[in-house]
Amino acid sequence: MDFAPYIRDIEDFPKPGVVFKDITPLLKNPFAFQKAGDALLGLTRNMKIDKVVGVDSRGFIFAPMLAEKLGAGFVTVRKSGKLPYKTISESYDLEYGTGTLEMHSDAIEKGEKVLVHDDVLATGGTAEAVCKLVERLGGEVVQCNFLIELTFLKGADKIKNYPKAALLQY
Ligand code: IMP
Repeated sequence: MDFAPYIRDIEDFPKPGVVFKDITPLLKNPFAFQKAGDALLGLTRNMKIDKVVGVDSRGFIFAPMLAEKLGAGFVTVRKSGKLPYKTISESYDLEYGTGTLEMHSDAIEKGEKVLVHDDVLATGGTAEAVCKLVERLGGEVVQCNFLIELTFLKGADKIKNYPKAALLQY
């Protein structure tokens, strides 16, 4: 199925000059929403996965469903200050300054196979930080998957050590 008709371009969001890919038209359509979930699941066919890591916040839309269907656990990576237990953190570059992502220190066991999921791969800073968190706990990133990859931002270069998949590329 072609998901492109369900992705809306929002110009100058969140700031002037940026064209934001808005996935809410896809989410609100029952057929497209279900098909997108099926297609994401299809990206991991025959893979053994112990944990699915969803990235704050739009990664939380599909990651729990993927975990449930794969018979895996669901792990949240959150922006700093949101997780209640002991955390490990990684900072990454934003256009101005840095952002910090955190994961609970007991979220992943050594040797576990991990799927990282987020809605959009842009510059790759977010996904790279998430993969580092997984590896610091001894997990193995078996795939990073996304609804959308913005190829012109070359995020794939930052996560080139990991298998990557996306439903749509721009
Ligand atoms: P990156 O770190 O530059 O790859 O940015 C990826 C993160 O920013 C993801 O968590 C996305 O949710 C968010 N993001 C960046 N660009 C877009 C967009 O055009 N639409 C939706 N989310 C975006």
